[in-house]
Amino acid sequence: MTHNPHTTYADLLAAITADSGTEIINPATDEVVGTYRQATVEDLNEAVSTARAAQREFAGLSDAERSQLLLQAADAIEASGEALVELLSREQGKPLNGPNARFEVGACAAWLRATASFDSPDYTAVDDDITATVSYRPLGVVGAIGPWNWPMMITVWQIAPALRMGNAVVIKPSEYTPLSVLALVKVINTVLPEDLVQVVAGGGEVGAALSTHGGIDKLMFTGSTATGKKIVEASAQGLTRLTLELGGNDAGIVLEDADPAAIAGDLFWGAFINTGQTCAAMKRLYVPAALYDDVCAALVAVAQASPMGVGLEEENVLGPLQNKQQFDIVDRLVKEATAAGARVLVGADPDYGAPGNFYPTTLVADIDPDNPLVVEEQFGPALPIIKYEDLDWAIEEANKLDVGLGSSVWSSDRAKAREVAARLEAGTTWINSHGAVDPRVPFGGIKSSGYGVEFGTEGLKGLAYPHIING
Ligand code: NAD
Repeated sequence: MTHNPHTTYADLLAAITADSGTEIINPATDEVVGTYRQATVEDLNEAVSTARAAQREFAGLSDAERSQLLLQAADAIEASGEALVELLSREQGKPLNGPNARFEVGACAAWLRATASFDSPDYTAVDDDITATVSYRPLGVVGAIGPWNWPMMITVWQIAPALRMGNAVVIKPSEYTPLSVLALVKVINTVLPEDLVQVVAGGGEVGAALSTHGGIDKLMFTGSTATGKKIVEASAQGLTRLTLELGGNDAGIVLEDADPAAIAGDLFWGAFINTGQTCAAMKRLYVPAALYDDVCAALVAVAQASPMGVGLEEENVLGPLQNKQQFDIVDRLVKEATAAGARVLVGADPDYGAPGNFYPTTLVADIDPDNPLVVEEQFGPALPIIKYEDLDWAIEEANKLDVGLGSSVWSSDRAKAREVAARLEAGTTWINSHGAVDPRVPFGGIKSSGYGVEFGTEGLKGLAYPHIING
């Protein structure tokens, strides 16, 4: 294995930071983390053409050899683990502990290993009349465009199946978190073939150039629904294949037989994982009138026991919003809710003058079901809790929006919960948890939350085309 020199934070940062360019600001402290150079159209062209050359050779490796490289990439990430964690925390803002930076870097290694272990999707259909072999072949060069909330983990979600299936990848990270992705790729490139995985850092214009580039055979996009729609339009030109993981506004429904004290912790983290900046976080919670006060009180207790602060301080489990734009969205939505008469149980009222984009953990009760905080994606630490009398009404409310990424049902009766789950419109419905993804289980959205799935053997098929030999 190639020597990995990027095991300290200082070495890792030095390896990716540019002498001049665009500064990245720590969203917890307003300090400069580092500087990156924005890619030009020439850089993009060069990346796609060298990636294509690397891919031709890489596609000649066996499936077992490619899987072996994924395992080595996982080892490399672990060898640089704490350096990656520190950079991620400084750039994204997320704390070290809780379901945050250490969790994210750990998930990168775990996803690479799991992706190396899946069964190949290849198969043979054979009987008296037919012998057809179905072999999944690489598509070529995959473009990967990502968001700023889980920058390393989502990059691995995109590149691991692409590599397993024999593709090269050109990544366009979010302009808010490019250093995390540059660092991750620097580390895995100590073991991967040269030019196979490359990063073109920059803003939406670099993403748009990538999505219209004639040399891209497939685009993996994770981000907002609005940008997803632009990418669909751009894909018409070259009929580029797409996997779209877009925004969500997941509902959770508590049933009358649930035990508020028993579910409060998981309910809270289902909503506030990564300080609410998670695609499949619970973004609206429906609670029966009989349990309403108890669930609200139990959630307030968890909120008050969950420290928010600068990510590098070990005790914190909640951090700042990654950027001021997102802070403003959360702030506006909470203000609109209170102006309409909703009741703040805890939080709101941020300290506008303090450093960082900290918005307090906020729980909002007695809110109208059509309030913007309920029907728009807040993507931050503010959860509306809606009271219901009639379960059928709650299910209708949960299904009423034009998004469908995740949803959840909370109950002491698993059979009853599964019945309700079967009536919810979403890619995934969890029971007594929310947002827990597993590399073996397909994940994706319906409606405006996107199309295509990631993970597992289903996910591998999205990064390949089936070639059939029939006869
Ligand atoms: P965004 O759409 O603003 O940006 C995502 C990426 O698209 C960035 O890299 C950006 O530079 C790029 N981009 C912008 N304009 C582009 C264009 N015209 N063409 C191509 N690329 C362009 O999203 P964001 O604010 O970074 O992320 C938050 C959103 O992502 C939320 O809605 C969240 O729900 C969603 N998300 C979804 C998932 C999922 O798996 N479904 C996961 C994480 C985040």
